[in-house]
Amino acid sequence: MAKTGRKVPFYVYLWPLLKPVRMKFDSTLEERFEAMGNDHVSSSGETPIRKDAFLLSDEEKIDRIRENVRDIMLTLGLDMEDDSLSGTPNRVAKMYVKEIFGGLDPKRRPKASTFKNKYKYGEMLVEKNIIVHSTCEHHMLPIIGKAHIAYISNGTVVGLSKMNRIVDYYAKRPQVQERMNIQIVRELQAVLGTEDVACVIDAKHLCVISRGIRDVESSTVTAEYGGKFKEEAVRREFLDYINLDTNF
Ligand SMILES: [Zn+2]
Repeated sequence: MAKTGRKVPFYVYLWPLLKPVRMKFDSTLEERFEAMGNDHVSSSGETPIRKDAFLLSDEEKIDRIRENVRDIMLTLGLDMEDDSLSGTPNRVAKMYVKEIFGGLDPKRRPKASTFKNKYKYGEMLVEKNIIVHSTCEHHMLPIIGKAHIAYISNGTVVGLSKMNRIVDYYAKRPQVQERMNIQIVRELQAVLGTEDVACVIDAKHLCVISRGIRDVESSTVTAEYGGKFKEEAVRREFLDYINLDTNF
């Protein structure tokens, strides 16, 4: 009988022989991403959001996440019929979508209400000790800290609570501290129409405290200085205000 059909290309036979090489390649990649995550390396200033991020409604996302969380818990061997556990998947799903990752949704971006600087106040304004509750995107564990923000008005001012809201909006995402710091500064620069904005964040990462190296004492400080804050004296003044005692 004559042979029919296409000839099998030679490399198909090579494929199984290459398995050790492929495995090595895969595991190197995996190790690289693992190391990147553990070192908290940020890849860009923008949160990596997919184009189809908002095709699903919040309710549809909650439905899906509920099933996924349940699956994780089942996989861990938990009895999901137990009274204490049965509501957890729904609770976690709602918390992800509506609360701790709510800042992924541009609809929740704080409204840009600004005012004229009618007092003609020309010095820097500092709002310090703004509470930061975020989530490390490499381990999905909390980041807890404080943000200190300063700006020098060029004619426009914002309400003080606006700065808290901006911090909270960018904190409520899977985050990398450096990126969050940059996003806060960029947002305020856009709202105030000036480059002269600075932000310092000092935060503890649960992924460093409760697992891995388990260093309970360390905290991570990041800073982003725009415009005049790049000048040594202006930056110094800002940092001195942060260090002022606030126990009134
Ligand atoms: Zn982490």
